[in-house]
Amino acid sequence: MSTTSATSPSTGLGFGRVFTDHLTSMSWTPGGWERPQVRRFHNLSLSPATMVLHYGQAIFEGLKAYPHADGEIRLFRPELNARRFQLSAERMAMPELPVDDFLECVSLLVSTDRAQVPDRPGHSLYLRPLMIATEVTLGTRPAEEYLFLVIGSPSGPYFAGDFPAITVWVSEDLPRAHPGGTGNAKCAGNYAAGMAVQRSAAAHGADQVVFLDAREHRYLEELGGMNLFLVRDDPGGTTLVTPPLSDTILHGITRASILTLAADLGLRVEERPVTLAEWRDGSRKGSVVESFACGTAAVVTPIGRVRDAAGEFVIGDGTPGRWSTRLRTELLAIQKGTAPDRHGWMRPVR
Ligand SMILES: *Cc1c(COP(=O)(O)O)cnc(C)c1O
Repeated sequence: MSTTSATSPSTGLGFGRVFTDHLTSMSWTPGGWERPQVRRFHNLSLSPATMVLHYGQAIFEGLKAYPHADGEIRLFRPELNARRFQLSAERMAMPELPVDDFLECVSLLVSTDRAQVPDRPGHSLYLRPLMIATEVTLGTRPAEEYLFLVIGSPSGPYFAGDFPAITVWVSEDLPRAHPGGTGNAKCAGNYAAGMAVQRSAAAHGADQVVFLDAREHRYLEELGGMNLFLVRDDPGGTTLVTPPLSDTILHGITRASILTLAADLGLRVEERPVTLAEWRDGSRKGSVVESFACGTAAVVTPIGRVRDAAGEFVIGDGTPGRWSTRLRTELLAIQKGTAPDRHGWMRPVR
């Protein structure tokens, strides 16, 4: 395997540091897409005048392959990643990659590097499809050459520790996304724009950032790379609440799957705007009993503490809550093939 930094087997794989032996790729020119290629994992050689390095036409995806007890390796809802990749490309004026080509490149990599799909508990093969503008010019217009790549990273748990509750920092003045912006595209620039806030979160002892809406700085949106959920316990019953999708919230596949699983478990679900005040006051009064973030990399991550300039509040007793644990367990069981795939989410790799 190729590594970018020293990661000894004894310290575990961590996340995104070790890569399998191959990559798959397709190039695009105005003539269209070339056929998928499998090559050894290699460094790219790019002119310093390559467009992506200047103007940032770069999009990506993230999905996982899981080994199942029947010997098959299965992907979790990969066609949704393929479709979202098309929407991201459209927003960034990049060429649309057919869903079948996306799926073929992902499957080809997984089957080529099948022996490197880890089967230790909590591990999987994280797949990272990406597309960059490779035309060499400093002209400011959509590029006329692109490279699509899929790389694979055998990965352990995203956060250190088994299943910790994290502390989050609320970004009150710097939003992640703006109405009409690129918040619902999975583009590299969204992450670059969030790095400064991520650094201030770390300076405040927090693991992740929660972003508020750009207009009023009152409504919860999502984390830097995960969607956000609250569990409310009211006299009328228990409700799972998440902010509604918009052009400032990434349409998470884990988010959609959690909403389906929650309904299966008989939880009432609400997609509606939630203010920071509701989160804080509800946690203090005991009506908001749990919160968690979710995404492909970290699956379901409970939030134990929330910090902002005004101080800190604790959710529940600050440890992973009952529903967070249950939803995480259910989702992981389907992904690992230990529970029936009742929604037809798993796709075998051929
Ligand atoms: C990728 C991403 C998510 C999570 O999406 P999944 O499909 O569940 O992995 C959430 N928010 C942002 C900003 C993201 O980039």
